[in-house]
Amino acid sequence: MFRMYPIQYSLPHSRIPQAWYNILPDLPKPLAPVLHPGTLKPIGPDDLAPLFPLSLILQEVSAEREIEIPEEVRLVYGQWRPTPLFRARRLEKFLDTPAKIYYKYEGVSPAGSHKPNTAVAQAYYNKKEGTKRLATETGAGQWGSSLAMACAFFDLECTVYMVRVSYDQKPYRRALMEAFGASVAASPSDTTESGRAVLAQDPQSNGSLGIAISEAVEVAAKDPNTKYALGSVLNHVLLHQTVIGLEAKEQMSLAGDDPDVIVGCTGGGSNFAGLVMPYLSSKIKGQSSARVIAVEPAACPSLTKGRFTYDFGDTGHLTPLVKMFTLGSTFMPPGIHAGGLRYHGMAPLVSHVKELGLVEAIAVQQLEAFAAGIQFARAEGILPAPEANHAIAGVFREAVRAKEEGKPTTILFNLCGHGHFDMQAYIDYQAGKLQNYDYPAEEIAMALAGLPATS
Ligand SMILES: *Cc1c(COP(=O)(O)O)cnc(C)c1O
Repeated sequence: MFRMYPIQYSLPHSRIPQAWYNILPDLPKPLAPVLHPGTLKPIGPDDLAPLFPLSLILQEVSAEREIEIPEEVRLVYGQWRPTPLFRARRLEKFLDTPAKIYYKYEGVSPAGSHKPNTAVAQAYYNKKEGTKRLATETGAGQWGSSLAMACAFFDLECTVYMVRVSYDQKPYRRALMEAFGASVAASPSDTTESGRAVLAQDPQSNGSLGIAISEAVEVAAKDPNTKYALGSVLNHVLLHQTVIGLEAKEQMSLAGDDPDVIVGCTGGGSNFAGLVMPYLSSKIKGQSSARVIAVEPAACPSLTKGRFTYDFGDTGHLTPLVKMFTLGSTFMPPGIHAGGLRYHGMAPLVSHVKELGLVEAIAVQQLEAFAAGIQFARAEGILPAPEANHAIAGVFREAVRAKEEGKPTTILFNLCGHGHFDMQAYIDYQAGKLQNYDYPAEEIAMALAGLPATS
């Protein structure tokens, strides 16, 4: 007899969160201040005003635990939120594990990932404060297409610097951005001083997020009508992503479960933070003892091999200094297929909670990640983004551990996006062309040697 069991826990539209969750006031130890690179003094709102609208600058340092989501933003969210939470029953069976595995699926957004959660909010606040154009960087193209879409919704121009290796590997993402009306340049480009400086040294440069950020920041700093938008790392970006965890908490209680292990992949840290920050709130209050695990690529291991110190957010050294786990701002990660995970640093907030021992971190190779992603697709029918494959590899390790220890474990992870625009990566993987990269110790040592002196 065919027996039905629940696999999806959905919430009605009315349960889209009314407010984002800001962890800053709940931290047991405050975040280190952001420093001006010249004076090494903490920066103020005026220093950031050329780059961001005031409302986002205020969110960056807000002491309010709950920050109301504007109605216009909730209306756009309503097209795909609340996103579904699934129990991966077939995957559990395949892994023959006593663990229960749940995943929050952010791939149902029009751009196919969690990124529109903040793109829509950033476009809204910029429009409200009179910005005409947004300049940004993109790695794999997920952020660029999300911001391009949000700019189309709010009638803003959008200029995207796309990391060269992704520009070449992912022509469909570029086409999507252009369809939304954005203009896209391969980075390093010859349209900015920062881009030209890199090209002068290495005309074949693969590019990196650090370089693309320099280009976009430069463009925004030079044009009063243009502001800069970042798709990860900053506090306000992580804040906007907390809708993921707020919904997940409610859905997990519908399922009658509470996670023992929470997993997400980390590039700049935003999808991970979006899922876990609302849970860390319970952990800080002593109401949860869940293990929280960040999974990063072994080829770009900021949390597991980086140093917790002040560094620039970009390669051209135009940004303020932030305290974070970093591999050095000039580090050039290998051209792995998880383009969204190729950033030299980690969000200051995620770095801080790692330093406080509230979260753990592991690094996985891309072959392990893709093998896990393919198994996931066969069990669940969703082909994950290469970035998400890293989280899935982490989940597999925990499911195996639960089996070995014979321990019933409830695992929750963030399936941050689908991989429909990443088919070349899957073609290469199936053809045996993907390779693991050794930990690039020498390049990292070199990049770390160039850290700014702050003490
Ligand atoms: C951008 C992106 C990432 C990496 O960014 P985070 O800020 O670490 O979330 C991961 N997964 C997907 C699908 C992305 O688009």
